[in-house]
Amino acid sequence: MIVAGNWKMFLGPDPAVLARQLEDIAGLDAIVCPSFTRLSACVEAGLTTYAQNVHWEPEGAYTGEVSAPMLLALGVRGAIVGHSERRQYFGETDLGVARRAQFALEAGLHVIACVGESQEERDAGDTETVLRVQVDAIRDGCGPHDRLVLAYEPVWAIGTGLTATPELAQDAQAFIKSLLDRPVLYGGSVKPDNADELLAQPAVDGALVGGASLDIDSFTAICRSAARIRS
Ligand code: PEP
Repeated sequence: MIVAGNWKMFLGPDPAVLARQLEDIAGLDAIVCPSFTRLSACVEAGLTTYAQNVHWEPEGAYTGEVSAPMLLALGVRGAIVGHSERRQYFGETDLGVARRAQFALEAGLHVIACVGESQEERDAGDTETVLRVQVDAIRDGCGPHDRLVLAYEPVWAIGTGLTATPELAQDAQAFIKSLLDRPVLYGGSVKPDNADELLAQPAVDGALVGGASLDIDSFTAICRSAARIRS
């Protein structure tokens, strides 16, 4: 079971304090995804650390981007790609996301590749079509790579306080797995009080946690749920 905390563009908790809290939770892969300036502090604290994005080229004229070799040199283990905030606000495309994932994997990073439908797409009955297009692009670029994990993050549930029902998450994630046979995390307003029922679903292999990962006690509580459920 994997629980990854996406700190977004926040400073986030003290890495050393968080590392101490997570120390005694067994049977769990806890990951933190801080902003670029906090990567080193998280690595130094002994946390499994992923970046929030990564470019497909090792170096070049790509202002504002960071490459997989640069992250690996810092001791960073992986990266998120395709987060809906990147797709929504920074124009990232399915093809670009797939390229980021493919080259990060080839360079030796682990990857959490995010997919998910918007409210309009769900209301129009297009959820499976959207997921298929997004997952197919990642599958065509990466195949079922053993360092690749997917995250189902319905856009309408991210940072809104709206959470998918366990049944909805189960259905969508089983569909994603039928397209690409890799672990699938659920993300979208996961909190200590809804983690148990979401993580108990058979197609839910962990959680990608945004807001609640900024609070050490909340994140630790979600990690404890995950460890308990699959122990
Ligand atoms: C996220 O940023 O990936 C996320 C799921 O955010 P939140 O938990 O705040 O909805």
